[in-house]
Amino acid sequence: MKKYSELSQDELIKEKEVLSNEYKQWQAKGLKLDMSRGKPSVEQLNLSMPIFDILDGKSLMRCMNGVETRNYGCLEGIVEAQHLMSEIMDCQPEQVIVCGNSSLNIMFDTVARGYMFGFGGCTPWCKLEKVKWLCPVPGYDRHFAITQHFGFEMINIPMNDDGPDMDMIEDLVSKDDSIKGIWCVPKYSNPQGIVYSDEVVRRMANLKPAAKDFRIFWDNAYAVHHLYKEKCKILNILHECEEADNPSLVFEFASTSKITFAGGGIAAIACNNANRQELKKTLTVQTIGFDKINMLRHARYFMDVESVDEHMKKHAKILRPKFEMVIKTMERDLGDAGCGTWTSPKGGYFITYEAPKGTASRIVELAKEAGVILTPAGAPFPYHMDPNDSIIRFAPSLPPLEELEQAADIFTVCARIAYLEKLILAKA
Ligand code: PMP
Repeated sequence: MKKYSELSQDELIKEKEVLSNEYKQWQAKGLKLDMSRGKPSVEQLNLSMPIFDILDGKSLMRCMNGVETRNYGCLEGIVEAQHLMSEIMDCQPEQVIVCGNSSLNIMFDTVARGYMFGFGGCTPWCKLEKVKWLCPVPGYDRHFAITQHFGFEMINIPMNDDGPDMDMIEDLVSKDDSIKGIWCVPKYSNPQGIVYSDEVVRRMANLKPAAKDFRIFWDNAYAVHHLYKEKCKILNILHECEEADNPSLVFEFASTSKITFAGGGIAAIACNNANRQELKKTLTVQTIGFDKINMLRHARYFMDVESVDEHMKKHAKILRPKFEMVIKTMERDLGDAGCGTWTSPKGGYFITYEAPKGTASRIVELAKEAGVILTPAGAPFPYHMDPNDSIIRFAPSLPPLEELEQAADIFTVCARIAYLEKLILAKA
């Protein structure tokens, strides 16, 4: 089959007619499929149900160091949970503070601390005329929502295959002291599944920002979320920052939201001692301590990182066929037509489809009218503005495989129709 871009106007119109008929047939089915958010499926959630058998009315509720989990206190989280999270985050247990149920919540609070009280004795950001933030794109919409909420000016940083454009980042942060931070998802990034190379991590750790209170927000949300046997590894950012004589440069975040229960797991922040002492000054006013019973449940369920790995293999077994099916469908329907490109991630939760320029919003609209809800076009960009209107984040985890098959079929019909409309209009 010829690429769509090589077809004559008559051929384009004919092809569009065929697909429009197919589209109408899908519409008539009245389906309701949601591919919009990266939520684990019920089958995945069921994997963690034995966690509820760990503690019962007769369980010992004290930790190994004697801390009583049923009572107030222990601001930094129980030692067992610090240990578990340090293995997931690839850092030292004493660098970790285990908090509540959501890493996004900790990230919001960390930005809020910089805003209200300032970092390292610098002026609180709320007192500054302008605060800017670097946003590798496409990225995680909820990150951008935080920095937008605080009124920061967000600057797009293009992503390469091995992480964000470091030349641009080095240049910007060295010149402009109103740039106070950067969002990073260093492993199996949301939404492209990109893994930062050693060089990118080292250059990040060696940044020489003009702002002394510049911080890297290292959201290691998908640290153990491999889809295949091959486990991608990244360098330990806290260690690299120490080596670079930049020990306060980074806050690392992670949670078990996509290991056990989304929103019902445990979340943590890791940083060096100076940042930690500063953080604790606010944290100790904010709370008397987080939910240590849930920490205990998690720490006793996952005795070590090997048991986390075993557990993640079960997730991968459920997720892999879904990812592969979507990618195969794209290859089958879009490959020959030359209609866009897509990622084949080795981990994480998303496939990114890069549509021909100017067609992403139309695809999302067409899909919606055929019963498939996609993440809105533009969502993976600050201010929801995709300069090329071409990126669509596809989240294959939630629906059962049969539903996902239908959604993928509908998606490729919509993608082809949108492209054909564009080509027909261009030739008219
Ligand atoms: N960071 C990233 C990159 C994510 O994709 C998600 C979930 N979609 C989160 C954080 C949210 O994590 P939590 O449930 O711990 O708040």
